[in-house]
Amino acid sequence: MASFQIIIIGTGIAGLATAISLSQKTQHQILILESSSVLTEAGAGIQCSAAASRVLSSWALREEFEAVATCPDFTEIRRYEDDELIGLIPANVNDYSTRLRGFPHWLVHRVDYQKILADAATTRGVKIDFGQKVVAIDVDNVEVTLASGRSLRADLIIGADGIHSRTRRSIPALKDVVPRRTENYCYRALIPREEMLKNPVTATLIDNQSQQAWAGQFKHIISYPIAKGKFYNLVMTVPDHGDAPLGQYNEPGDVSEMRQVFKDFNETVQAVLDTIDSCAKWVLADLPPLPTWSSPNGRVILVGDACHAMAPHAASGAATSLEDAEVLGLCIATCNGIADLPRAAKDYEHLRRPRCERIQEISRENATTFALPDGPMQEARDQIWRAQKAMLEKQLQEDTPLAIPAEDMAQQFPHPALVQWLVGHDIIEEARTHLATRKEIHNIL
Ligand SMILES: Cc1cc2nc3c(=O)[nH]c(=O)nc-3n(C[C@H](O)[C@H](O)[C@H](O)COP(=O)(O)OP(=O)(O)OC[C@H]3O[C@@H](n4cnc5c(N)ncnc54)[C@H](O)[C@@H]3O)c2cc1C
Repeated sequence: MASFQIIIIGTGIAGLATAISLSQKTQHQILILESSSVLTEAGAGIQCSAAASRVLSSWALREEFEAVATCPDFTEIRRYEDDELIGLIPANVNDYSTRLRGFPHWLVHRVDYQKILADAATTRGVKIDFGQKVVAIDVDNVEVTLASGRSLRADLIIGADGIHSRTRRSIPALKDVVPRRTENYCYRALIPREEMLKNPVTATLIDNQSQQAWAGQFKHIISYPIAKGKFYNLVMTVPDHGDAPLGQYNEPGDVSEMRQVFKDFNETVQAVLDTIDSCAKWVLADLPPLPTWSSPNGRVILVGDACHAMAPHAASGAATSLEDAEVLGLCIATCNGIADLPRAAKDYEHLRRPRCERIQEISRENATTFALPDGPMQEARDQIWRAQKAMLEKQLQEDTPLAIPAEDMAQQFPHPALVQWLVGHDIIEEARTHLATRKEIHNIL
């Protein structure tokens, strides 16, 4: 079969991952166009659940990630007011994630993440052209126009250009889709280890392998050490009153304003916030469910935030982008020629859209669940969390073989059956099984 010329737009996690997946499974020529002049990722942390580490391991990148990752035991859910431990979500304690899901849970610095992916892609022959902003995409002629005026033709264009995707707007059915504000924005901060070590309270946190989730009234904080304890990462979610402009990420935040917002949180949190010199402010937005993720001719396909941007409260945007990359790679690898692309695009959407739409919902739900005002709903929630924690502690104490919960996408986070579906579901197996049902395909990997 003749090799395709594939253009991917964007070197975020979704674009690089798609390039790796395709370069591993096919002989196609892959060029990534990136508007920035260099690789850019926010200096911040990112959680790689088993959903992410499963895909990264399948690309033989486990060793690279393990060299830079922190491996938390739990997410400890604490009450904002007095720091009481009210919930526990197991990560790597007693190899929990690996025993239940086959793969570990990592905490990674985004800069390390992107560099590992970029190195893996270029090593496999992928070309990256920086400083090339795509200003138009002609779906019928499968052609991109760059800001320089130059045009490039391809057999397949993959839009990995993020929540404000230009590629998405080139698909007629999606041209009017706009990101939705969520009800929140977040402050993000990264604290160097030296600063955390200055106070015994914060020193404990940087060397505590576990993640913290402080559930407050209308706001919550997720924090964890990254880069093997070199930095402490915080995402602090607060209500958005509509004053911050949508689409601007990483705007400088006001540290004293941020401390003021969390003044009702306990002394441990105050000690952490006191170490922060600067923070960034992000308006949190997502996309509504889209009617399609590809053009009718199957020659323009979306991945990652371009088609399912989600709020960060299920820590799954990058993980789902890796899953997209792997599944799209498997679908494209079954094509015998360009005429197969519409079928491959449909298979990809069939496998990915329902799962991502549910994860988008969970991400929105979690913003509320973790930020209930004190009262009957909060008390009922805490009772559930305490019961789940007691059950887990008993299970770990007895150290009996862990029962693998049946996956159930309808439960509420952090119900074990929902978490198993979210991070334990084997999308690679699912994709292979689905493609095997298509009698016309003979080249399933
Ligand atoms: C606060 C926060 C915390 C998060 N935490 C987690 C987490 O813990 N775990 C997790 O899995 N996910 C997390 N996510 C989500 C995750 O960061 C994203 O979903 C993921 O990085 C996928 O992004 P992407 O590659 O699709 O898009 P982006 O990262 O937006 O990349 C798009 C790329 O395309 C380029 N581009 C855009 N337009 C053009 C153009 N016209 N021409 C050329 N290039 C272009 C951009 O420069 C950029 O490099 C979080 C998100 C936020 C906001």
